[in-house]
Amino acid sequence: MTNSKNLNFRNRFTELGPEFYQAKAPDPVTDPYMVDYSPSAAQLIDLPPGEEENKGFLDRFSGNCPLEGSQPLAMAYSGHQFGSYNPRLGDGRGLLLGEVQNQKQEMWDIHLKGAGPTRFARGFDGRATLQSSIREHLASEALHGLGIPTTRSLAIIGIRELIYRQKPELAAILVRIADSHIRFGSFEFFHYTGQPKNVKKLLEFSIQNYYPDIAQESDRYRIFFQRTIQCTAKLIAKWQSVGFIHGVMNTDNMCITGTTFDYGPYGFMDRFVASHTPNHSDMHGRYAYSQQSDIGFWNLNKLAETLVPLVSAECLGEEMKQYQPTFNRFYREEMGDKLGLAILDSEFTQLVQKMFHLLQDQQLDYTNFFRFLADYPDSSNPVSNINGNDELRSWLNQYLELTQREGISHEERKVEMDSANPKFILRNHLIKSAIDKALKESDFSEIKRLRIILENPYQTQPEIFEKYGIDAEHYAQDTPEPFLSQQTSCSA
Ligand code: AMP
Ligand code: MG
Repeated sequence: MTNSKNLNFRNRFTELGPEFYQAKAPDPVTDPYMVDYSPSAAQLIDLPPGEEENKGFLDRFSGNCPLEGSQPLAMAYSGHQFGSYNPRLGDGRGLLLGEVQNQKQEMWDIHLKGAGPTRFARGFDGRATLQSSIREHLASEALHGLGIPTTRSLAIIGIRELIYRQKPELAAILVRIADSHIRFGSFEFFHYTGQPKNVKKLLEFSIQNYYPDIAQESDRYRIFFQRTIQCTAKLIAKWQSVGFIHGVMNTDNMCITGTTFDYGPYGFMDRFVASHTPNHSDMHGRYAYSQQSDIGFWNLNKLAETLVPLVSAECLGEEMKQYQPTFNRFYREEMGDKLGLAILDSEFTQLVQKMFHLLQDQQLDYTNFFRFLADYPDSSNPVSNINGNDELRSWLNQYLELTQREGISHEERKVEMDSANPKFILRNHLIKSAIDKALKESDFSEIKRLRIILENPYQTQPEIFEKYGIDAEHYAQDTPEPFLSQQTSCSA
């Protein structure tokens, strides 16, 4: 039986050599306590439900007691932040404990966020607030529930220390599980510090560990880049589909495996506004919803620049030309699934374009609109006053015409659409209520409740909801007015 004492650590990253990291153990903490544990994430490393109740678990994952077999390290990286290169980044408060091999022979990175300052900390305290840890924990598990590649969150461990941001705040450690912690910025670090041999070393390492099927190919570097383009385009198409806005798509927050990485001031679209950015510091909307696909392209270009000596600018340029069509194809498929339509012709394109115009114009809730549509025309719960709205009525008629070309019944369409359109997303007011209860009353039940709902966001599961006292309609309702299009600051 696996437990936190006998995890099968492999520590591949340490083999890259000391230029790639600072070896450092997590700093000990005062009186760690469990805030929330995700049994679903725990399965990835074969940890059973209930493992979090062992005293040893808290001590091992908070830094008070070494994890047998792990070799903790802070990774070196740099990156472009808001369009400008920042040479001084690196894991200032994060530690890779190592890679754990599970019973299925999969490898998972175990990482602590908020484990004390490292040599990359630049004078910051190396800690994370409880609030930001709750935000990352819930979003990680929510995106996973939505079927979107993401880092996972095994647990939030609270620590009884105050840290200072704008005001004193409670601190916590997030235990993150990921397929990789190699960022576009990891390559940039070696490129901009004039270490081409280490760019190559990192590239070989990445191919060997993430794409072993191409390890013997003579053009494996090019194929690696091709795959990075593919998985990045696919990821962003999925974000667009569910209305997820990352908020800080700096190149140090872009993982080479196309995994949603580093949650800060993210948000989910509620009332549809294409130009919305949830990041309070993003004055010009660089990372707004409507910009995410272009920023993916921009970031891939920055990665490409680091590979020029190994692949040639011409080849990389050729590959980059595939980004937009690849994104468009994935996005189109996502939109087809959302609308319950398989015929993706020019009429479909027109319908989608008009839909976005209407969503914005009529100020409709992006998520609930599609659930309404799945019921339409039977819906007793119109999203808006359809009878009073000619444009919406005519769009719905056009939509029904297109559904009739598909040759499936309304019931079949509804089943398909409900499995592509979530009923529950992580709305700002729901996060706030979970954070408020945690911070003001040390009551973590709302975090757990939200995590459970969001594990399965496409369905209401009456038995589970009853067990945890969950009123499905409360969690699915449109975001209340004061919380619409809310922004969060980077330090929150
Ligand atoms: P993030 O905004 O968490 O992606 O972090 C951006 C950079 O700042 C990374 O290099 C982090 O490791 C570093 N950083 C952020 N917060 C802290 C902190 N409290 N202590 C040390 N380094 C930090
Ligand atoms: Mg980051």
